[in-house]
Amino acid sequence: MTALTTAPFLAGAGRVEHRPRSYPGPGPGQLLVRPRANALCGSDAGLWRGGSPVVAGHEAAGTVVAAGRDTTTPVGTRGVIYLMAYCGRCRSCRAGATNLCLDKAGDMGFNRDGGLGPLEVVEERMFFPIGDDLPFPLATMLLDVMGTSGAALNRALSVRPGIESLLITGAGPVGLGVLAVARLRLGADVPIHISDVSEWRLAFAESLGGIPVHARSVSSRVAGVPEVDAAVDASGRAGARRSALDRLSRRGVLVCVGHGEQLHLDVSPDLISTGRAVLGSEYFPYADLPAALELLRRNTGYLGRIVTHTFDVSETGLAFETFLSGESGKVVVTQDGE
Ligand SMILES: [Zn+2]
Ligand SMILES: [Zn+2]
Repeated sequence: MTALTTAPFLAGAGRVEHRPRSYPGPGPGQLLVRPRANALCGSDAGLWRGGSPVVAGHEAAGTVVAAGRDTTTPVGTRGVIYLMAYCGRCRSCRAGATNLCLDKAGDMGFNRDGGLGPLEVVEERMFFPIGDDLPFPLATMLLDVMGTSGAALNRALSVRPGIESLLITGAGPVGLGVLAVARLRLGADVPIHISDVSEWRLAFAESLGGIPVHARSVSSRVAGVPEVDAAVDASGRAGARRSALDRLSRRGVLVCVGHGEQLHLDVSPDLISTGRAVLGSEYFPYADLPAALELLRRNTGYLGRIVTHTFDVSETGLAFETFLSGESGKVVVTQDGE
């Protein structure tokens, strides 16, 4: 079974072109999913400007419309789609680190047709059922917003259990996700400082319970923050990372989750005599999704506030412009009137 349809392509320079696209039927172990909502991500911005040969979108929620041989997921099941086509067999996957798969077959929306299109072909192990009650736009929060953020927080807690103060540099979608997940998991008594150069984002972060910190606009360096037990850099900026490290207490941990610039370490004072750690965190393990779903179900009102805009897929261009304006939380593109 092959479905011939049209799909929106990011053609570069901020243009969206609807082109014919055929989708193969699901092969053995695969599902054909109809995306109903797809959240935009900072990592889509490059595709928006430079174009993409595949349909973009890697934060999708939708419904199974066909199931291949050797699958058990019924047609009609609602769920979200994990970014990575992980193998499930390698040393990383067997240890649960599907986000660090050694034999990854692809990434949805980057080299496989993704969630802005009318269909997605995915391995069944990449699909995570969400039940029948959660709206699709809200369900996309399980992916980069809660998943990536939750994994970064887990990395910090693995080094520094009992975090009593936190600094987040960068109040974009991932930084806001870290703020929200940390507030829910660490409790409202733990002060969470969050820095950005955007007034809009700082005000939004404050409305979610963060303590706003104005970063210097050129370097993204942060000043005026007390010592913290842990920091998460979601900005990718060298200045932000450096000042986050400088604010760490003894035994403190910095987790870098935003790709971007470098970080220079002076090992003796930065790490050895202070007992600090610097860690990286990439996406999140698939096995984190059930806990994220529980957290989302218990806090739909609070976490739902991170989605500030939804647009129909026919308005994908406007959705990107809104997302890239710097005056939005998460922007979600919907299909079929979701
Ligand atoms: Zn993303
Ligand atoms: Zn693997």
